[in-house]
Amino acid sequence: PAILGLLGGGQLGRYVTISARTMGYRVWVLDPDPDSPAGQLADRHLCAPFDDRSALGELAANAAVITCEFENVPAASAEWLARHALLRPDPRALAVAQDRIVEKRFLEAAGVALAPWLPIDDVDAARATVPDWEFPAILKTARLGYDGKGQQPVTAPGGVVRAFRQLGEVPCVLEQKVDLEREVSVILARDPDGRCRSFPVAENVHRGGVLHVSRVPARIPESARAQAEAIAQHVAEALEYCGVLAVEFFVTGAGELLVNEIAPRPHNSGHYTLDAVTVSQFEQQLRAVCGLALAPAEPIAPVAMLNLLGDLWPADGSLPDFSRVLAQGRARLHLYGKPAARPGRKMGHLNLLGPPGDADAAQAVRLAESLWMDLAGRAGGDAR
Ligand code: ATP
Ligand code: MG
Ligand code: MG
Repeated sequence: PAILGLLGGGQLGRYVTISARTMGYRVWVLDPDPDSPAGQLADRHLCAPFDDRSALGELAANAAVITCEFENVPAASAEWLARHALLRPDPRALAVAQDRIVEKRFLEAAGVALAPWLPIDDVDAARATVPDWEFPAILKTARLGYDGKGQQPVTAPGGVVRAFRQLGEVPCVLEQKVDLEREVSVILARDPDGRCRSFPVAENVHRGGVLHVSRVPARIPESARAQAEAIAQHVAEALEYCGVLAVEFFVTGAGELLVNEIAPRPHNSGHYTLDAVTVSQFEQQLRAVCGLALAPAEPIAPVAMLNLLGDLWPADGSLPDFSRVLAQGRARLHLYGKPAARPGRKMGHLNLLGPPGDADAAQAVRLAESLWMDLAGRAGGDAR
């Protein structure tokens, strides 16, 4: 059987691994964490740093195709792999997605609307920059931020220097804080011949910078749904992209769609596809990068996806009491097999399928919130 190489062994990679094995592939995972969720299930876990030449060499020599579930693979590793093997998506897509300055410049050049922003490279720029747009703003590190880490709110131009120092004086972007109506994401797959299939648009609610609930269908007009899908496809085409791509959007009070950021991989807001769509984002990733036919991605039911963070885990290392969850016929529990829970750490998620008649997923969302309150209450209230 053909071997799929996977850069990154997190929960996204775990589901890519499951899909690939289901479809008869062998999977080799490169990830430095010996307990990585995907490494546990892989045929071979190359437990090494992402710049380990011998591990990269083994992957390149054995894998029919190599893909990623993690965009922060060092550029030199991605470029080396692309020269010695088939890497999908290619190093350019990774380079664009791993640096907010490069990403925003690329998106602007592609004609995509963004929140007003400016690059802040050094302390002098932090001191001197006075945007021609209004505060409040958010200062974000250009690289390595996730789950809202590496961000500082800034209420006035005079606050930029302090925020820049707090973030460690690394290159940043200063971004206007958008008056959000809601947030949505489009996940799509693009195959080597440029054919695209989009998943239903998800509406995403964050708590403390971390995705809390995604609901599908998103509560946006049909025209906005079509526009979001068109923008995401345009971004994929501009990148000559192959694989699954996620595009996060802000929807402003005026109904305008602004791209927040892109992810060159399956996405947390697409976990609902595991149970509520005819094909999951993970199987579609496999299909796209292996040059197999993409599957139609038709919704099966309205759905709410609830992230389960480590805050819900008891301090003694046991599992939360999922009895109420498991008693729900329309709840699917997913746990990633991570050995240790930490606050904020993504340990699993629930997909709650809406009952018949729950056209806007409101009942599924209510059930999600009620189960979450129940779990958070038992965890001792910290999670609230
Ligand atoms: P991810 O885990 O999605 O990669 P991240 O750390 O890259 O997150 P962002 O997506 O930039 O961070 O921001 C996290 C969340 O913070 C957004 O989904 C949104 O809720 C809020 N946010 C970020 N930037 C803005 C903004 N300019 N205006 C309003 N809200 C924002
Ligand atoms: Mg991000
Ligand atoms: Mg984000």
